[in-house]
Amino acid sequence: MGRVAVGGDAPISVQSMTTTKTSDIEGTLQQIYALAAAGADIVRCTCNDAAAAEGLAQIVPRSPVPLVADIHFHVEMALAALEAGVHGLRLNPGNLRKPSEIKLVASEAKDRGVPIRIGVNAGSLHPEIYERFGGATPEALVESARLELDYFREVDFEDVKISVKASSVATMIAAYRLASETFDHPLHLGVTEAGPLPGGLIKGTAGIATLLAEGIGDTLRYSLTADPVEEAKAGRQLLESLGLRERRGLDLIACPSCGRTEIDVIAVANEAQSALSEMNIPIQVAVMGCVVNGPGEARHADLGIAAGRRRGHLFIRGQIVRVVPEDEMVAALVDEAQRIAEEGVDARLAKRDETAAALADADRALLLDEKGADANAASLTIERIRRRTQG
Ligand code: SF4
Repeated sequence: MGRVAVGGDAPISVQSMTTTKTSDIEGTLQQIYALAAAGADIVRCTCNDAAAAEGLAQIVPRSPVPLVADIHFHVEMALAALEAGVHGLRLNPGNLRKPSEIKLVASEAKDRGVPIRIGVNAGSLHPEIYERFGGATPEALVESARLELDYFREVDFEDVKISVKASSVATMIAAYRLASETFDHPLHLGVTEAGPLPGGLIKGTAGIATLLAEGIGDTLRYSLTADPVEEAKAGRQLLESLGLRERRGLDLIACPSCGRTEIDVIAVANEAQSALSEMNIPIQVAVMGCVVNGPGEARHADLGIAAGRRRGHLFIRGQIVRVVPEDEMVAALVDEAQRIAEEGVDARLAKRDETAAALADADRALLLDEKGADANAASLTIERIRRRTQG
């Protein structure tokens, strides 16, 4: 799934889902960054209409983690999401039912090397299967996944994850146990519609942890009626407490870089990673390729740096505090991380250089002038999406 391996010996990954309208590009990106900072390895966004697909075209190149498009009912939204460059699809076999359409999506996903999750849900099971099994039983959920997998296999597509979620913990545990005996594919765990805190957390943990302790499951999502950041945190904490993921000291997040980038993000992020991890400080640090969007996208990080016009704009919780020459970016991050560890975030924010924000605003305006608002050439992708969704 993009750069995150799922299945086999890969670390168990944490997923969550945005609650914004996917057409709200800045709002969705802010939430994706917050989810990544909280521990999400993969984020899912709904792709429910043409505006959402067009939003994805702009969000995908700027997302720090792989993105999955969530598809219900509309095959054309799956095709548009693939066009937008998503790293994965989730299809609900309960409401996308035409075999010819399912095979069309699988073929196109195969051509693009994009995996699909067969996302069976007890609440929206295929009516024919519901009838045949007398309800959303564990056997019915697994049968729904098996039928969908058969369609995929007809077009030689096997790059598949499977989920068989139910809101009943007992049903979900039985369904996943059966799925693990039935399929070789990676399983995505979850108790669906688990509800608000704290009950939702308890239900999710009861189902997911039971299965993980049995060695079942490759990736997971808590489905909480809460800020999705709570889902990502819970997933991460569960894996750490089971000893399935390492405990985090430094959490370095970095943008993937895109048409706007002003620096070699990979090199600076690597340099920052090795310099900061030696300090052994539990801090979230963001390395962002441009000052146009970087501080906003990574506003949940304790500390970050964004590049702009040969300068590094240092920010704390999204607010610019200092501007340094480009070749001093990593040294400035190390220095500021040390001070935050000693004095705390609020004290450092109080001591910010008052002129820094104005400098960042000026650099941002100049960069927008130079590169325009469509530095990622998303308009061409959007044209192709329109042909899919309108034709
Ligand atoms: S270069 Fe700027 S817009 Fe592009 S992904 Fe990085 S921070 Fe976001």
